[in-house]
Amino acid sequence: MHLGPFRMRDKGLALVCALVLASLHAAAQPLPVPNPKNDPIGALIQSQGLDKKQQNIAIVIGLKLEESAQKSRFVVELSDPVEARIFTLSGPNRVVIDLPELLWRVSGDNSRPSGKSAVKSYRYGLFRKGNSRFVIDLNAPVKAEAPRILPPEGGSGFRLVIDLAPATPAEFLAHAGWPKELQQAEAVPRTRLPAGANGRHVVVIDAGHGGVDPGTHGQSGVLEKDLVLAVAKQLRKTLEATGRYRVQLTRDSDVFIPLRERVNIARAARGDLFVSLHADSNDHREIRGASVYTLSEDASDREAAILAEKENMSDVIAGVDLSGENNPVASILIDLAQRDTMNRSLRFAETVIAGLPTATSVQPVKPHRSAGFAVLKAPDIPSALIELGYLTNVRDESEMLTEAWRVKVAKSIAAAIEAHFGDRATSGNRQASVP
Ligand code: ZN
Repeated sequence: MHLGPFRMRDKGLALVCALVLASLHAAAQPLPVPNPKNDPIGALIQSQGLDKKQQNIAIVIGLKLEESAQKSRFVVELSDPVEARIFTLSGPNRVVIDLPELLWRVSGDNSRPSGKSAVKSYRYGLFRKGNSRFVIDLNAPVKAEAPRILPPEGGSGFRLVIDLAPATPAEFLAHAGWPKELQQAEAVPRTRLPAGANGRHVVVIDAGHGGVDPGTHGQSGVLEKDLVLAVAKQLRKTLEATGRYRVQLTRDSDVFIPLRERVNIARAARGDLFVSLHADSNDHREIRGASVYTLSEDASDREAAILAEKENMSDVIAGVDLSGENNPVASILIDLAQRDTMNRSLRFAETVIAGLPTATSVQPVKPHRSAGFAVLKAPDIPSALIELGYLTNVRDESEMLTEAWRVKVAKSIAAAIEAHFGDRATSGNRQASVP
């Protein structure tokens, strides 16, 4: 989960991810062909072991923010010209720039918002495969001018110029909203999967955040989105090894998935159980330990309510238009079917809590809480959200970075899943009944 300041550190962290991705690419590919002289971009690409021709992805090599009373201007320096689409969203006010998939290799720090202009903070990253996104949070309403691409000049690469001029709140609201042509595209179509193949239970594992939404982060620079994806994959491996489960991940790469879409994936897969994985953060750095959350109309306590609000921010962070939707926290209708689902969710959460202490530290007080988490809203699939620990706690973080911890935690959650489906008891009975 994550709240608030997505400032430069997020930019830096996104860069770390880009570097990790880039180094993976670099490792997998032969050395690039030497580039001609007087080609600063080519030289940079070569020095970084990248070959854009092979990757066929434009590279962002610079980012500058210029602020004045007349306008705020972002200049994004690129290896190749790209098409950009800009639009604004309200509640909270933000500017979204959609781009083709880019490799972010920005070095230097020329772009920290002063806080005095309209730009509050910004972030960028992969929104989904083939699509990068740049999101600017605003202090004040703006008019976003159409992005311009300038050709290379004086040793610079192509430059994408984004100008934001001051506007009145009414002017901002008049233009804010999802572009018509994108309203359909936003709902990513998913393949429907056969239900319960071979009678196996379908477990949906949801690694929180991803892509443009990094979640929270630790002091080592580890990002929640990467940590929870690693645990999700480990849990998949553990469950599949039993031969009793079909596992569906809501994401298996560093890509953003809207919360509603995660629920849709679970339902399309005809999931029997939905487990969302997250890591927590807190200003009180001494707080540590895992906790498990289930859905409820009324939050069990103030902390749970705040946490749900933060986790539900994911769509806002990534620049998803929520204007046509109800507030995800509000109006959770509990009919009889859902009440049954909720009872089973509660029992599953308790089972997880009971097993976790053998694998990791667990919050000593109220480790099981409830609130209005949008991602837990499938009415017919028992669902729980596990906050695996606190990335703001030094001990939690250092443990969470180890493979041994991932293996232990995955084992513990897998055991709870087996108990939930009665598979442990079943296998025990079978053994007992063997003559
Ligand atoms: Zn989270």
